[in-house]
Amino acid sequence: MSTIFKKIIDREIPADIVYENDKVMAFRDINPQAPVHILIIPKEEIPTVREIKGEKHADLLAAMFDAANEIAEKEGISKDGFRLVINCDKNGGQEVYHLHMHLLGGRRMQWPPG
Ligand code: 5GP
Repeated sequence: MSTIFKKIIDREIPADIVYENDKVMAFRDINPQAPVHILIIPKEEIPTVREIKGEKHADLLAAMFDAANEIAEKEGISKDGFRLVINCDKNGGQEVYHLHMHLLGGRRMQWPPG
């Protein structure tokens, strides 16, 4: 089932898009938890990490990590470091069932997460 992120991909609803290529899109989180909080998503509709298969999705995963590094550099958070988070399902705290990687930076993160 499609989510709000599919509507962002299709430009049916607005988002502050910071990166896009044929495989991946990235936009600012509507409820940022850090000075930089960007969501990196595949254009392919994959609900959760559990549907990821290394062989099938290797290129897509590489594209997501390339996007993370490129955006972190552009946002000026690469040198000091950042956090990448993927929540999976109920216990992981996933709210939107379209795979997404949170890129968080611009402040010192806490560990362990809540
Ligand atoms: P999750 O909890 O599923 O890992 O994260 C979903 C994220 O999507 C949340 O951080 C939430 O603020 C963000 N989000 C939900 N709806 C929208 C939206 O319509 N636009 C944007 N830019 N972010 C959204």
